[in-house]
Parts: sequence; structure tokens; C-alpha cells
Amino acid sequence: MRTQVAIIGAGPAGLLLSHLLAQGGVESVVLETRSEEYVAARIRAGILEHSSVELLESVGLGDRIRAEGDHHRGIYLQWPGERHHLDFVDLVGRSVWVYGQTEVQKDLIKARAADGQEIHYEVTEVELHDDHVTFTDKSGQSQRLDATAIAGCDGSFGPSRQAVPAAETYEKVYPYSWFGILADVAPSTDELIYAWHPNGFALHSMRSATVSRLYLQVPNGTDPQSWSDDRIWDELATRLGHGQNGWKLTPGPITDKSVLPMRSYVQTPMRHHNLFLAGDAAHIVPPTGAKGLNLAIADVALLSKALIAKVKEGDERLADRYSDDAQRRVWRCTHFSWWMTTMLHTSGDPFDAQLQLSQLKWVANSEAGATGLAENYAGLPIGY
Ligand SMILES: Cc1cc2nc3c(=O)[nH]c(=O)nc-3n(C[C@H](O)[C@H](O)[C@H](O)COP(=O)(O)OP(=O)(O)OC[C@H]3O[C@@H](n4cnc5c(N)ncnc54)[C@H](O)[C@@H]3O)c2cc1C
Repeated sequence: MRTQVAIIGAGPAGLLLSHLLAQGGVESVVLETRSEEYVAARIRAGILEHSSVELLESVGLGDRIRAEGDHHRGIYLQWPGERHHLDFVDLVGRSVWVYGQTEVQKDLIKARAADGQEIHYEVTEVELHDDHVTFTDKSGQSQRLDATAIAGCDGSFGPSRQAVPAAETYEKVYPYSWFGILADVAPSTDELIYAWHPNGFALHSMRSATVSRLYLQVPNGTDPQSWSDDRIWDELATRLGHGQNGWKLTPGPITDKSVLPMRSYVQTPMRHHNLFLAGDAAHIVPPTGAKGLNLAIADVALLSKALIAKVKEGDERLADRYSDDAQRRVWRCTHFSWWMTTMLHTSGDPFDAQLQLSQLKWVANSEAGATGLAENYAGLPIGY
């Protein structure tokens, strides 16, 4: 087989890249280890930044976001006894949309199918070489795919990351995890609540008008099945301030429980010869700043332009700059995600707790503090 760009991974980075390349007249083949059903149903991120929505709209993927997504002007920041609304539209003229990663995946899969895109699901033994990829297809046959460029969009556990020799890596592992639940109940809030509490951080998020997504800070290694539903709702009620100023948390049937460890990871450079990394293959952020999915989108917005110029015109200039250009935003988002995480998650140290409360009060009450958070959360323009 031969194609212009071989894409490893059918997550948001890989599928959006193949969509953007197709719009620029460049053909690609996508290889994915999982099944189509698995990829379409994987529950992960849920917040789209302003510029992610603008980009998706500009390439014909915005209709369902506008029709079924939930537009949020900002977020609530909270600590015991106080809740403050930060209005991003007033502060920076930008906003976010609640639209689940599963829906982004479904839209991308549908758009790629409508285009006749070749996606090989359930492949195994994927090996990267400078100008080709070898793999075993679903029927068990060994295949070779030659390509002008290879895009490693295979997340944090795929082979692309390891295929960049002598890469520099930066990593921080946090001493806590997120215990996430999905519940069949209408959200008890109109916008996300980020709550600092002496027992640990809690987040009230949502997926739709009838499905809530909530998180609790828990120690690493927590077994989600060791928490009863009642215990989860009681702890959420305590940390989110049920009963304060008349606010109520409404519990409902829990349909999913999972524990997500938190880490920051950046690998540089994001290119080695014809191999280019994008999304989680190159970097991981803790989910507190809602940046993982948005960074994947921003990476492939840059990478698609670089690959179109390289493949169609032999112009390597954008490809040569890709890693440096992408890393500017990667480090901004890495810092913001670390900053949100360390401001909101308790460490057990009373000194740290006082610093966190001081920081939260400054962010909530000073226009300069609130604007900094709003600008980063709603997201900087693509190409920052
Ligand atoms: C469990 C989990 C929960 C998360 N929750 C949140 C959240 O609550 N909020 C938030 O903002 N972000 C969250 N994230 C982060 C966000 O989902 C990611 O940043 C985003 O999915 C990145 O997209 P991607 O396409 O780069 O990588 P991925 O979505 O990981 O896609 C990579 C794809 O490559 C495939 N692949 C792997 N190995 C191979 C191989 N050898 N060959 C071919 N294909 C391969 C994988 O199956 C996958 O489909 C979460 C991530 C994880 C892992």
C-alpha cells in the first residue's frame, strides 16, 4: 500500500488530521488498534475551547456542536462558604462549549466515512520505519504502508513516542487521582463548579441536559469499586457545598466509575525525519485545565498545514518549524494545567492550604487574576 501520510491512531488527533489533510488535497491512511465501536464510545474529555470550536466549524464539523453542545460563558470557582462566577465572555470575549469527546469522535468518524477515508481498525504489531509502516491487519495479514510522512497520533501508550530517538522528556506525577463518575441525572449547575475543599478537590461537570459528570480527588491507587454510590454522593455533597446558600446537589443513578491518575509529560522534539508527533503521543496534561483534547486539536491544525506544504509542494519550512511552533502552546497549556491542579488539589499540608486559598481569593476577586484564568481556560488562538 502507498499513501501520502500514514496516520497512526484514530483518536481525535489522528481523525481530525486526516480530515484537514483531505480538505487540503492530501490523502492519508489511518491505522488503529481498537475497534470502531470502542473508539467511538471511549469516555474522556468534555470541554471544547473557543478556538477548537472555530476550527471544527471552519471544516464543516460545527453543526452538532451548535445544535447539541452547551455553550458556557465561564466557570464557578469555590471554596467552603464562597462561590464565584468567572465570566470569560466579559473578561476576554471568548467562551467554551461542553461537548463530549465521544461526540467529537462520532462526528469525525462520520465525516471520514462520508469522504471514503481508509481507516484500518483492529490492526496489531504496528512498527514505524523512516518511510513506511508495517502492521498486521484485522484478517491477520502482514501489510506494508509506504508514505511520504508518518503522523504519530497514537496517544501516550503507542509506539510513535518511542520512535523519536534521543528525545528530551519532562514529567511530573501528582500524588492524587481523579475518581470520575457518570450519572443519569440533570446537572445541579448551569456551568462547571471547581471546588477546593479540605477533604480534597471536587468538580461538577456535565455531558448533557440529562447526564452529569462529577469528579473527586482521591489517593493514587484507589479502587473505584471500593466506594459505594452513597459514599460518592455524600462526599460530593460535602465538597461541593450542598445546602450552602440554598444550593442543592441532586444525586442519581451512577452508570460509570473510573479512576484517572494525573501526570504532566512533554516530549521534545515532536519530529524525527518523516515522523511527526501530535496530541497525547507528545504530551499529557492533568485534566484540571481541560486542555488534553484541545491541545490535540491545536497540534493537528499546525501539522496539517506543514504536511500539506511538504507533500504537495516539497516545501519543508513549516515542517521544520512544527515542533517549535507546537511546543509554545504545549508549554503554555502544561503550565496552566499544573497551575489549576496545584491551586485546587489539597496536599494535607496546612501551609499549602493557606497559599491555595489566598490564590483562589485573588483569582476570584481581582480582574487581573480572573482574566489570566479566563484567557487560558477559554484558550489562546490557534497558532499561539
Ligand atoms: C482515561 C483518560 C481519561 C481522560 N479524561 C479527560 C478528561 O476528563 N478531561 C480532559 O480534558 N482530558 C481527558 N483526557 C485527555 C484527552 O482525552 C486526550 O488528551 C485526547 O484524547 C488526546 O487525543 P489523541 O488523539 O492525541 O490521543 P488518544 O485519544 O489517546 O488517541 C490515540 C489513539 O491511538 C490508538 N493507538 C494506540 N496505540 C496504537 C498503535 N500501536 N497503533 C495504532 N493505533 C494505536 C489508540 O487506541 C487511540 O485510539 C483523558 C485521557 C485518558 C487516557
